[in-house]
Amino acid sequence: MDLELTEEQRIFRDRFREFARGEIEAIAKECDEKGEFPKELFRKMGSLGYLGIPFPTEYGGSGLDLVTFALFAEELGHASAGIAVGIYVHVALALSAVHAFGTSRQKESYLAPGIRGEKVGAWGFAEPAGGSDPSSFRTVAEQGPNGWRLNGTKVFISNGTFADFIVVTAKTAPEKGAQGMSLLIVNKGTPGFTARRIPVMGVRATESAELVFDNCVLPQDALLGRENEGFLQAMKTLALGRIMAAAFACGLGRAALEASLKYAGERKAFGQAIGAFQGNQWTLADMATRLDASWLLTLRAAQLAGEGRPHIKEASMAKLYASETATWICERAVQIHGAYGMAMEYPVQRYYRDCKLLEIGEGTSEIQRNTIARQLGLK
Ligand SMILES: Cc1cc2nc3c(=O)[nH]c(=O)nc-3n(C[C@H](O)[C@H](O)[C@H](O)COP(=O)(O)OP(=O)(O)OC[C@H]3O[C@@H](n4cnc5c(N)ncnc54)[C@H](O)[C@@H]3O)c2cc1C
Repeated sequence: MDLELTEEQRIFRDRFREFARGEIEAIAKECDEKGEFPKELFRKMGSLGYLGIPFPTEYGGSGLDLVTFALFAEELGHASAGIAVGIYVHVALALSAVHAFGTSRQKESYLAPGIRGEKVGAWGFAEPAGGSDPSSFRTVAEQGPNGWRLNGTKVFISNGTFADFIVVTAKTAPEKGAQGMSLLIVNKGTPGFTARRIPVMGVRATESAELVFDNCVLPQDALLGRENEGFLQAMKTLALGRIMAAAFACGLGRAALEASLKYAGERKAFGQAIGAFQGNQWTLADMATRLDASWLLTLRAAQLAGEGRPHIKEASMAKLYASETATWICERAVQIHGAYGMAMEYPVQRYYRDCKLLEIGEGTSEIQRNTIARQLGLK
């Protein structure tokens, strides 16, 4: 395993870090307060090639490796977790699924404009009856003479209020349970499709929504990939997504650690900087150590996935450890800041509210543990 970044990866990271500081971190507080996603960011990032990192040049992508993609996700998470979710869902889930399973026509219609930032995607998997257990899903797509008739509800769908298209899972052979699911692409404005915002405590810039599909008629070619193979396709998409979610958690954890180190050097108590107390030093040392361990797990999973080698277990380990570490670091960061950790003018309260999503979205920590246990041969 290569622990050193290549020259190209370092140049990319430094260039994107500068962009993320000026264009994302600078508006993070305002977007969180307003609970609004800065939609113009998609076109801005698309014009600079930032939405097409892992995709082929044929569709306008950069064709870069997955470690570079992880560096991108890490910087996004560092700049603003709320904004990062919207970008991440668009690239790592919606566009990735179209890239992996789409026809050339679907790639022309969704992937290419998605990479340019002209169309925004969302990923519609979770349902009200439970996000972890796909066998409980009730969204159904029936084939008819005019195409597919889609009925059902999805919940907490990021970008749901404004996305131009949503990749949804629906049962196309309900009698087969999760094995009878397919992926379908639903366009914004489809009659019968409505979206309603669901306010959440963290990642508030992400516009999470409930999506209702009431007798939506979709064309025959709305099917993405193979009929009844949607569960497998969704799991493959999520395995890559988990690596990016892990990288994103590393970025958020780094932001909280940096804020804590700065504050520990400035804040005085009992005549000395609070960073001079051994208890705080050990906490900061543990934060840095666990963060490095998170990044190493993430790097390993990204390298394996990039080489086309098995990575299900490694992706789950990275996501599990990095997200739980981010939560731990953000909680400690608030403690180090004392009352100012809860003050709205300081960013650590936002990190603390934002981090929790990472243990829930993309498969909860419990589901990651189940996946790892199965990969260890446990039944
Ligand atoms: C801000 C936000 C954005 C989101 N964005 C998206 C999105 O863009 N697209 C999307 O599809 N979804 C999205 N989600 C939904 C997310 O994926 C689901 O919330 C998640 O999958 C968990 O589903 P659930 O909330 O229904 O929990 P449940 O499945 O009901 O689980 C409840 C609890 O039981 C535990 N549990 C369940 N099964 C087991 C088991 N077998 N063993 C042990 N414990 C178990 C869970 O880990 C959890 O702790 C988002 C959620 C949030 C909060």
